[in-house]
Amino acid sequence: MQRRGLLIILSSPSGAGKSTIAKRLRAWDPEIRFSVSATTRAPRPGEEDGREYYFRTRDEFQEMVAAGEMLEHAEVFGNLYGSPLAPVEEAVAGGADILFDIDWQGGQQVRNSALAEDVVSIFLLPPSIAELERRLIARGQDSAETVAGRMQKSKDEISHWAEYDYVLVNDDLDATEEAVRTIVRASRLRRRQQTGLNDRLRALFAEFEARK
Ligand code: ADP
Ligand code: 5GP
Repeated sequence: MQRRGLLIILSSPSGAGKSTIAKRLRAWDPEIRFSVSATTRAPRPGEEDGREYYFRTRDEFQEMVAAGEMLEHAEVFGNLYGSPLAPVEEAVAGGADILFDIDWQGGQQVRNSALAEDVVSIFLLPPSIAELERRLIARGQDSAETVAGRMQKSKDEISHWAEYDYVLVNDDLDATEEAVRTIVRASRLRRRQQTGLNDRLRALFAEFEARK
């Protein structure tokens, strides 16, 4: 059956498990696309332009914004981040779901965009702040200073929890993954996403007429 794709927004304080859940979701359904953001931050070791992010200068980034090429954009940790619009429109129209790993500012903008009705938003909470810090340190990606910066920002991020459709405490990873799958499965069945329904209903009513 024909359908409109979903915009799946996944937000959380840094370290709560967004990337881990996003990867598992894609392993479950490889048809789910990732929205590759543009950013002005420097690539980390192992990151490739066009795969994790489109790495751009501030000028290049601002040109994209001015040209209306961004669905949303925001400053996070002193760098600009934004989601290019074209791949999103293409995915939704083609019936493919697209997943966003973006912060609360981006979440707000997407929820207020022309594609608002195709959005399903999920916020991940850590079981505790101590555990959040433990995960950030265990990930081994950041210096002690960066971890401290991320911890400071997490209070701000968590304060936006109530703006999301679904809020999950990411305690047990398997349980969180299962909950996210359930949300995606149900959201795909929303009337709005099932664009093939009009034809189906027309056929049902034609059948009624034929019985007269
Ligand atoms: P984010 O993308 O939100 O910054 P990550 O997905 O990178 O967070 O997760 C941060 C760290 O915590 C990673 O090392 C990841 O393996 C670990 N992690 C994620 N979810 C859980 C969980 N439910 N239980 C234990 N560790 C987790
Ligand atoms: P990182 O630099 O660690 O990859 O990402 C830092 C933060 O920026 C994360 O909270 C992530 O969700 C957020 N982020 C990444 N891409 C985007 C984007 O396109 N838009 C917005 N608003 N936030 C983003």
